[in-house]
Amino acid sequence: MIVTLHVATGALAGAAARSRLAALLLGPPLHLLGDVLPHEDIASRRFETASGVAAVLALAAAYGPLDPVTLGAVSASAPDLEHILSLPRPGGRPLFPSHRWSRLHHGGKFPAWAQLLIAGALLVTLCRNARGAACRRRDDRRCMAQGAGSHLGEGGWG
Ligand SMILES: [Zn+2]
Repeated sequence: MIVTLHVATGALAGAAARSRLAALLLGPPLHLLGDVLPHEDIASRRFETASGVAAVLALAAAYGPLDPVTLGAVSASAPDLEHILSLPRPGGRPLFPSHRWSRLHHGGKFPAWAQLLIAGALLVTLCRNARGAACRRRDDRRCMAQGAGSHLGEGGWG
């Protein structure tokens, strides 16, 4: 699965979990699930890296670097770091289980453009919701009333 969708699903999980530890723990299994889904990948490592870093930075700017949303995003996308860093490869195989089965990453039914579209929509919605989430955390009603674009609504994402 493309990196930005790993970032977006991890952020969503962090928002739902509302706990730093849970956000960190949910990341790797989410990554595995995303990779197991038959999917198309983006061949450009440069695009994958740049868009992934940009997505994490946008979330960190909106929520703060240690918010469960940001931590979930980092944790869910971190396994793909082994594609750009020279980490140890025991027996010449990648470290993360879903990266060992190259069959998963070719000719899947889930097109890269659709993944990118979904990731973009999720990230924009999450970033727009950040202000509302911060107001709710402070229980600041005036701030909530002004609240720009709290589309994810009353669920109290925190
Ligand atoms: Zn992966």
